[in-house]
Amino acid sequence: MQVFKFGGASVKNAQAVKNVAEILKNHGSGRLIIVVSAMDKTTNALEVIIKSWQQRNEALFSETLEELAAKHYAIIDDLFGMKSEGIRSKIEGIIAEINGKFQKNFSDNFDYEYDQIVSLGEVISTKIITAYLQECGFDAVWSDARKLVRTDRTFRNGNVDWEATERLIRNYVNDHPNNIIVTQGFVGHTPEYFTTTLGREGSDYTAAIFAFCTDAEKVTIWKDVPGMLNADPKYFRNTVKLDQISFKEAIELAYYGASVIHPKTIKPLQNKSIPLYVKSFLNPGAEGTIIQENTENDNKIPSYIFKKNQLLISVMPTDFSFIAESSLQKIFRCLTEENVTINLMQNSAVSFSFLADAEKIQLEKLIAALSREFKVRYNENLELVTIRHYNEEIIKEITGGKQQLMSQTDRQTIRLVLK
Ligand code: ASP
Ligand code: MG
Repeated sequence: MQVFKFGGASVKNAQAVKNVAEILKNHGSGRLIIVVSAMDKTTNALEVIIKSWQQRNEALFSETLEELAAKHYAIIDDLFGMKSEGIRSKIEGIIAEINGKFQKNFSDNFDYEYDQIVSLGEVISTKIITAYLQECGFDAVWSDARKLVRTDRTFRNGNVDWEATERLIRNYVNDHPNNIIVTQGFVGHTPEYFTTTLGREGSDYTAAIFAFCTDAEKVTIWKDVPGMLNADPKYFRNTVKLDQISFKEAIELAYYGASVIHPKTIKPLQNKSIPLYVKSFLNPGAEGTIIQENTENDNKIPSYIFKKNQLLISVMPTDFSFIAESSLQKIFRCLTEENVTINLMQNSAVSFSFLADAEKIQLEKLIAALSREFKVRYNENLELVTIRHYNEEIIKEITGGKQQLMSQTDRQTIRLVLK
């Protein structure tokens, strides 16, 4: 068994879907599961739809849904031409289902409502792609992740129930020995069969779940980049491809914020030593990156991870006392309540400082909460640079001309807060 994952960019229009069929023809030998995301920016559009329903903004709701529908109908027309009626009426049914929601009251459980609707982006894309693959002569079967991936009841961030999921997937795969299984990334279900999602960009993780549960030989993630690069080309001019890295290194890179692969993806694969290939759907014959057990090549090329727009917040006890366990406990309770994700932290005798993404924080609210017991200072518009396998020369190059507010090092990694 092998698992292919196609993300939103790889199925963003009819041309891209045709390319998926080409890739299957040339590279999809043996038993195959394909995990597919919603087409292009569909998930973002569905987020707008759910919010406009909640806020009873009918104009925005209708406009966004119409645009979304039109885009998918155009893809269907292009792919199926005269034979588009069957698949088109299926998608019209789903669009009508979303449309009908606006008449109903929004329940007070936003996350629940979100999952029931936002998951439909993947349902739509997989219906279209399955129909197209069948049209091309593949024995593709549309397979419902809402019946295969079991999670707990944490909507928008479902935690996988591995035992149940393995049983469900194994049974399903055994029942379909001659099919290409086409399923939705990002989507799961509760024990009561309500739909859940696994968190934004969660389709990579779905591929790992299917691979784990079927003891797959390998997973391939098809992307619009040649593989895993040693930095984001948006921020770094001379990027190079990492040909081979270890699971351990991939987990570290994902942890520090490299956004090529969803961070939860690696663990299940590492657990069963299933190699992960990251390859370009634009150049499917090229090597790409292999992520596997062997750590030999990990330190050959330094990797850079840039996080812009960082806030550095420092918290000090108001009574001139030291930062001790009891104050840390209070600070962390407050950060948990305010849903803050810490990118870096450090403390001295009298202050505790941490770095977080400015866009993910409600700054005034957070400061108000912390100020009940502490004095708070902050610094805006900073950059956090993480360098794996650094050397002095690289540090000089990266920090050149910038003020350095904080740094942390271990043998492999240096993290710098720059202004
Ligand atoms: N469609 C979902 C998202 O955009 C899941 C994914 O693409 O991985 O977040
Ligand atoms: Mg995506």
